[in-house]
Amino acid sequence: MDMPPVPNDRGTAIEQDQFLTILSREEALARFEAVLFPRAMPSEERALSDALGLPLSRDIVAGIDVPPFDRSNVDGFAVRSADLVSASEAAPVRLALNDEIIACGTAPRLAVVAGTATTIATGGPLPRGTDAIVMVEHTQPAGHRAIDIRRAVSPGQFVSYAGSDIARGETVLRAGTVIGSREIGMCAACGIARVEVVRRPRVSVMSTGDELVQPGLPLRPAAIFDTNGAIVSAAIDENGGEAIFAGAIADDEAALEAVMRQALATSDMLVLSGGTSKGAGDVSHRIIGRLGNPGIIAHGVALKPGKPLCLAVCDGKPVVILPGFPTSAMFTFHDMIVPVLRRMAGLPPRSDAKVAAKIPVRIASELGRTEFVMVSLVEGAGGLIAYPTGKGSGAITSFGQADGFLKIDALADQMPAGTEAEVTLFTPHVRVPDLVIVGSHCTGLDLVTTPLAQAGLLVRTIAVGSLGGLSAAKRGECDLAPIHLFDEKSETYNTPFLGEGLELVPGWRRMQGIVFRDGDRRFEGLSPQAAVQAALADPSCIMVNRNQGAGTRILIDRLLGGARPDGYWNQPRSHNAVAAAVAQHRADWGMTIAPVARAAGLGFIPFAEEHYDFALVTARKRRPAVQAFLDALSSDRSRSALEQAGFSKA
Ligand code: AMP
Ligand code: MG
Repeated sequence: MDMPPVPNDRGTAIEQDQFLTILSREEALARFEAVLFPRAMPSEERALSDALGLPLSRDIVAGIDVPPFDRSNVDGFAVRSADLVSASEAAPVRLALNDEIIACGTAPRLAVVAGTATTIATGGPLPRGTDAIVMVEHTQPAGHRAIDIRRAVSPGQFVSYAGSDIARGETVLRAGTVIGSREIGMCAACGIARVEVVRRPRVSVMSTGDELVQPGLPLRPAAIFDTNGAIVSAAIDENGGEAIFAGAIADDEAALEAVMRQALATSDMLVLSGGTSKGAGDVSHRIIGRLGNPGIIAHGVALKPGKPLCLAVCDGKPVVILPGFPTSAMFTFHDMIVPVLRRMAGLPPRSDAKVAAKIPVRIASELGRTEFVMVSLVEGAGGLIAYPTGKGSGAITSFGQADGFLKIDALADQMPAGTEAEVTLFTPHVRVPDLVIVGSHCTGLDLVTTPLAQAGLLVRTIAVGSLGGLSAAKRGECDLAPIHLFDEKSETYNTPFLGEGLELVPGWRRMQGIVFRDGDRRFEGLSPQAAVQAALADPSCIMVNRNQGAGTRILIDRLLGGARPDGYWNQPRSHNAVAAAVAQHRADWGMTIAPVARAAGLGFIPFAEEHYDFALVTARKRRPAVQAFLDALSSDRSRSALEQAGFSKA
């Protein structure tokens, strides 16, 4: 690959400020691009059918006229216009028919002489002597060897002249044009079967980390699946590159360096993820300095998520280390790497579709960093509403639920509730959901909404907890809010929390109880009260609590009666986290719901039933999707599915 020489003075200056400065995203991108561009773009010849989506690397000039001959545009008769000057309704002109029919693809044999006409089909080449075509509809047969014509024609009528569409020597497509079906059509019309296009930049992708396992293989303890390898490879292919996935490499400096060198020798660009912070085992950025000049351009960019992004150029080739967290990797890739990749691929900048939407809740933001927040769109009374779906940079579920993202300026420390924000859509066509459920999530909910999805309804569930759901319902931003809120005063669930405009739809009951590992003698066969007493009596016993505000927490505090055993301050926010802590021996007991305990293979001592119900926005009750939900909820199918999963009837 031809590369312009890298300016050395710039390289030295940059080397000095790496690690010392966190650059703004604009400054980091500008420095990165200044070192990389302009650059030669390697090209290759491809079959037309194989060139879709690629930019032409040189102009395409027509080698023939299109059409290649004068051609009839209609079914009719080739005539001499001078013969028909006097033709009228009152005095039709009779022409003798020549003994020839010119179909598409037949070259004419006979000339049309004065007083004659030749039958011609649409697309047929004009015979010698003619200068116009009469449509068959404007003629009358006169025996089978002649026709009568009742109107005059002008010269050139219904004729497409040779080269009138594309003239030989004309530039039909300019270099840089991205080949789509229309461009393919133009080349095909000119008889062009192969084109010179910009070669897709070959981008080697590697994930780094001792903990990574490729999807499809068994997960070891403490390991996680490599998510970035798949995301980054797909995003490269989506943006004009050709991803070459080298797998996940362990945090071993020598091994990683060998793979990086090998990849750099055979590709145009390197994209790594992970190992870019300065933690133990983070080695990739140290290797870059040895791979070529000028090396690191920016390490640390004022982006959230994505601060540890590392941008480098090694002897003309970009080398990028994305942050390890998949959400951070995805955002930094799209924001900082896609512009560079597309330029290398000869593609125009991405044009993302954007919509305006109102923010229902205040979003806090870190001052000094450009922040990206994934949002999920729902239809509100006064237009679109954008719910933040992010759960922090480590969360991946937000991808599936999010329709797009919004950007909070580096100079803002928040986006106030009610802001009309610009949302960049992940795909140009956003389908606003038919049914919006905002509140506490339960695996039972999926069992009820499955038939709705099968019936073609788009159901969106946004997990914001019971209180968040209740506020959304009160603001009219959802159809239903699933809640499980315990009122200590009345000792009842949910009803006391409903306000005006909301009504209760009974859902199901979830048995809460104490979980422990099967076979743990301290708990087996005991009542909940006795089990907790046994736990308190054993100083080596560790508990896992729940977050303040959770209904489950109230039950735990009651059982503990003021005791604060080891593990009390470990307060995860979900039923599943409690089960995972006990299953993985990080704690010995906790309180969760029966289906979760069962799925985790834990022992379970039933304690109290939790009511999982729905706050229905009365004003939205008549909507067909809401009716469909209510029908599904009361159907035998859902009832038995819920029962089977361990939930009981309300
Ligand atoms: P690191 O930057 O290597 O310290 O990684 C930060 C976090 O992202 C850690 O929790 C890693 O386990 C996680 N991580 C790193 N690479 C990947 C990957 N390819 N897929 C999923 N998670 C990752
Ligand atoms: Mg790592």
